[in-house]
Amino acid sequence: MSVWEKIEKKAEAGERLSLEEGVFLFRDAELHQLGQLADRVRERKVGKRASYVLNRYLNYSNVCILSCQFCAFARKRREPGTFELSVEEMVEEGRKAVAQGATEIHIVGGLHPSLPYSFYLEMLKELAGIQPKPMLKIFTAIEIRHLAERVAKKTIEEVLEDLRSAGLDSLTGGGAEIFAPEVRERICKGKETAEEWLEVHRVWHGMGEKHGHDVVWACGDGGAEGGSFGEAAGVAG
Ligand code: SF4
Repeated sequence: MSVWEKIEKKAEAGERLSLEEGVFLFRDAELHQLGQLADRVRERKVGKRASYVLNRYLNYSNVCILSCQFCAFARKRREPGTFELSVEEMVEEGRKAVAQGATEIHIVGGLHPSLPYSFYLEMLKELAGIQPKPMLKIFTAIEIRHLAERVAKKTIEEVLEDLRSAGLDSLTGGGAEIFAPEVRERICKGKETAEEWLEVHRVWHGMGEKHGHDVVWACGDGGAEGGSFGEAAGVAG
């Protein structure tokens, strides 16, 4: 039986693929064949139903103390092109988005060196007051660590509790990129390790909450690194 046939059999039976099989799909599978198999699995799980979210993506600031190699968004504080939005400006953008039909607001920013903790709490409280209330999907794991370690000087759990009380519904899945240490060292030196990223999401899950995970493919990884992301994310829950 070929590797593809084994994968097909497992997918049909709803069994988990091995890391090697995942890497095979990434590197060697025929795209249309893979799409057809994925569609069969999707249909088995949810039938003909499709869902979507009307989402508005906002950034409160692009000022960041880190310098990830792939990031065209961040600026150092005195560089040209920086921006910082006030709570009022963020809420105004949120209101406009909801009036246009958005049901979710997705916000991330750089690791700002001096915005006070109160800014983040106030932004959430005010956004949570918009009617009808949008789903507030805000902050990556590295922003949570930044708030905990440098801004509020609290534990991750305390920060997440504060943010949830202020209106946070979900974390975003960003900041994971690729978990392999040698790739992280090259593309986002100084960012949290895979274990530190997972810790934030484990704490959030332990509080009964959910979120997604985002992988940044093709930034010098060879496929296996993305597979190990899938495995690790599965462990995170
Ligand atoms: S932490 Fe985020 S905003 Fe800052 S440089 Fe890295 S990817 Fe860009």
